[in-house]
Amino acid sequence: MNPQPRKINDSPSESNGESQQQKQKKTKSSTQLPQPGTAQGSCAFDSAMMTLVPITDAAHVVHGPSGCVANIWGNYTSLSSGSMLYKIRFSTDIDESDIIFGGAKKLYKGILELQRRYKPTAIFVYSTCITALIGDDIEGICKDVTEKTGTPTIPVHCPGFIGSQNLGNRVAGEALLEHVIGTAEPDITTPYDINLIGEYNIAGAIWNVLPLLEKLGIRVLAKITGDALYKEVCYAHRAKLNVILSSKALINIAKKMEKIYGIPYIEESIYGIEQISQCLRNIAAKLGNPDLVQRTENLIAEENSILEEKLTPYRARLQGKRIVISIKNFKSWLIIFAANKLGMEVIAVCTQKNTEDELARIKNLLDREDSIILESENPEEILQIISNNQGDILINEGRYLDTALIAKIPFLDINIERNHPYAGYIGILEITRELYATFYNPVWEQVSQLASWDVQKPGEEITPSTSLEEI
Ligand code: SF4
Repeated sequence: MNPQPRKINDSPSESNGESQQQKQKKTKSSTQLPQPGTAQGSCAFDSAMMTLVPITDAAHVVHGPSGCVANIWGNYTSLSSGSMLYKIRFSTDIDESDIIFGGAKKLYKGILELQRRYKPTAIFVYSTCITALIGDDIEGICKDVTEKTGTPTIPVHCPGFIGSQNLGNRVAGEALLEHVIGTAEPDITTPYDINLIGEYNIAGAIWNVLPLLEKLGIRVLAKITGDALYKEVCYAHRAKLNVILSSKALINIAKKMEKIYGIPYIEESIYGIEQISQCLRNIAAKLGNPDLVQRTENLIAEENSILEEKLTPYRARLQGKRIVISIKNFKSWLIIFAANKLGMEVIAVCTQKNTEDELARIKNLLDREDSIILESENPEEILQIISNNQGDILINEGRYLDTALIAKIPFLDINIERNHPYAGYIGILEITRELYATFYNPVWEQVSQLASWDVQKPGEEITPSTSLEEI
């Protein structure tokens, strides 16, 4: 059995620095019993891949049954501005005989062949439940391949059974710290070099932020890991500041880099106008140049005024519309923020899976005192809320399309596979455009009409057979 999972269970987060209160919180959350009908999210292997796959010029090899790859294939729309190698998922496709005789040889041969054909800048090898259980020595194989080919080959010990989604993210961070960060030097460094950590460039989110930093003369040395090249992650240790964006799952990287390389870190969000403005302000303040601080204020004022101008025509068409938000995985407070800006009314919002911080933000943002906050919900409840409060649009993650059809109102699907980036100032404009396009899409009027064979002709008696309620 590979000894590495033991290390994973030690919790790679900087638990030593945690307060007693934080520890108690963790204990409490881990003792919560699952409720019938709820899922606990994806496995640790899935989230480790989600963290590392955005390194676009590397090859990502799954040492396990092909089902593990199929499970996560195309789940995340992490975008690349260059290499598309990361889109090819390689697997050793472990079968019964490999489980009996071991899959190490197959992995070794497979990686060599992959290296010969695709010439990746690096290879990440992921263990899965089966290969961790049969004890294939992934660590040793990666070492051998690195020596033989000169291509850095990095083991990622992330079998699904080690724990939660968050643990998978942290394991991926540990792999970067141990095998990648600090292994190369940049050609030049500047006093304004920063790393962006924890944003995976879903739908191109990071591209809404990079131009702002560029305007300020701040250089992003490494993106960990959205739209990253392997080389840039190698020299991340030369940055002057680490900026943790959106996800706290990779905070272990920032904490360890502070300890090892003396790089300070800040935790920021790029989702929401106040958030992106504060993020830019804090970066400028940390880099400590008074001129940069002033230029940042000017840029924030300029961006806000451009956004306001662009939102005006949409406001006229969306003002007063009443929305129901049921988004568990994405930041519902961001939609509420956009709705407030546009003068829309939030009737109800589901807060399941939101963090305590996000919940507090949601409550702060809600304009109406009678807005309903749901900790969990079901289609019947949503229908009831829409009907009692004359809801105009339902925003959800794809599951409630039928509910919206029954209620005969427009439906906006926002989920992790989304195609529009919501980060930065442009992000609010994107949400607005989507709300507008959804609300005024003629399809809603058509689907809410009766089918031609259900339309009653004069003197004819009909029994509707295909009403939406019966579908
Ligand atoms: S839980 Fe294990 S077997 Fe299932 S997808 Fe994750 S790694 Fe593969």
